[in-house]
Amino acid sequence: KMKAEIIAIGTELLMGYVVNTNASYISQSLLDIGIGTYYQQVVGDNDERIIEALALAASRSDLIILSGGIGPTRDDRTKLVLAEFLEEELSYDADQLKKVEMHYKKNNRIITEGDYQQALTISDSQTFFNEVGLASGLGYSRLSQNTLKSQHFIVLPGPPFEMKHMMENFAKPFIENQREDYEQIESLYINFYGLGEARVAQAIDDLIVSQTNPTLAIYAKPRLTTVRITASASNKLQAAELNQQAADKIIARLSEFYIGAGEHLSFEASVLGLLKEKKQTLSVAESLTGGMVMEELTAVSGASEVLKGGFVTYQNELKINLLGVNAATIDQYTVVSAEVAMEMAEQCLRKCHTDYALSLTGVAGPNPLEGHPAGRVFIALATKQKATQVIKLELVDKPRDIVREISKHEALNLLRL
Ligand code: ATP
Ligand code: MG
Repeated sequence: KMKAEIIAIGTELLMGYVVNTNASYISQSLLDIGIGTYYQQVVGDNDERIIEALALAASRSDLIILSGGIGPTRDDRTKLVLAEFLEEELSYDADQLKKVEMHYKKNNRIITEGDYQQALTISDSQTFFNEVGLASGLGYSRLSQNTLKSQHFIVLPGPPFEMKHMMENFAKPFIENQREDYEQIESLYINFYGLGEARVAQAIDDLIVSQTNPTLAIYAKPRLTTVRITASASNKLQAAELNQQAADKIIARLSEFYIGAGEHLSFEASVLGLLKEKKQTLSVAESLTGGMVMEELTAVSGASEVLKGGFVTYQNELKINLLGVNAATIDQYTVVSAEVAMEMAEQCLRKCHTDYALSLTGVAGPNPLEGHPAGRVFIALATKQKATQVIKLELVDKPRDIVREISKHEALNLLRL
């Protein structure tokens, strides 16, 4: 397994003026391709100490990524020092040199020696052309004297935007290419709904700590927590198998929250997917959410196979005249009631000829309505087969937009049952 180490170079990092976000980005980005970072160093713009950092890294890591210190100024020493460390020559990369020259010409500035330095590269390395800046990076591979395994050095710019661009477009392909012959990487994404990142982390903490192949990473997405499982093996099938074993373990612990696998799965898509699988159709009658539920559902491509449409009936008048809710029901129970929610759903089901119909009625706030406190919401689900279900929310002291947002989620959530 490839062990990575990051060396962030820059006195400003040591002084605390700049936070070392590059290291965090690089580590995460390496995890994407299943490579763990074992060490991170920060070192100032000083030749001797950069050499020390390189020597230490070379003694223990397979992939060494340096960031910073490749600009035009006197303190930008990274490539020069690395060349010295590797006992390699420096030369100019023709393409990058052209870009530097063009840049200064265009801006009517005189080029100094320092400016040329940005196009320096190390012999026997692969130059990473800087598409969004002036200083090129590079990738260099050699056989480690210690381990006799191959060892890779990568140089990236300091400015985070340039660094990210080069990492994604040049460094990662370089790394993948270098290990192609002995490692295959596969990722599997499994998604959980209804519990946050922290609770997922808690539930699988022991696995995260003990697993090295596959590695696990947790992501929070809107309403969804995703666990990415990344295995490396000598072939893709074997890697996929390792991923599946780890996934089964995790899903077993959180089975009631599991909604499916896939990198791009959204909760809405999974709800629609469930209905589509059953070949069922859906309609929605909304009040306090004013169409938000449908907006969410129609955002999913292919929603039309499931979602027929529905009603937005904000005022009582339309609930009665358009949707067909009994005026008497509203009089007797008020509009914010389980009875009205159920009638809304049932009428919607009838009028739209769908298999399922959702409805929402409630007080978004901030003011109370007809004796009901802000945050009281009823959500109903009518189906052809079963009795209409209804749930009540009491979202006390929540701001209006949050009440609406939570109502929307709970309504979608009801569709999973
Ligand atoms: P330049 O051409 O701008 O000199 P460079 O590759 O020489 O680029 P540095 O001089 O080391 O990079 O850093 C330039 C700026 O990039 C820093 O002032 C800082 O704002 C940012 N930077 C450098 N390293 C990091 C880091 N590890 N994390 C976050 N930001 C960084
Ligand atoms: Mg610099």
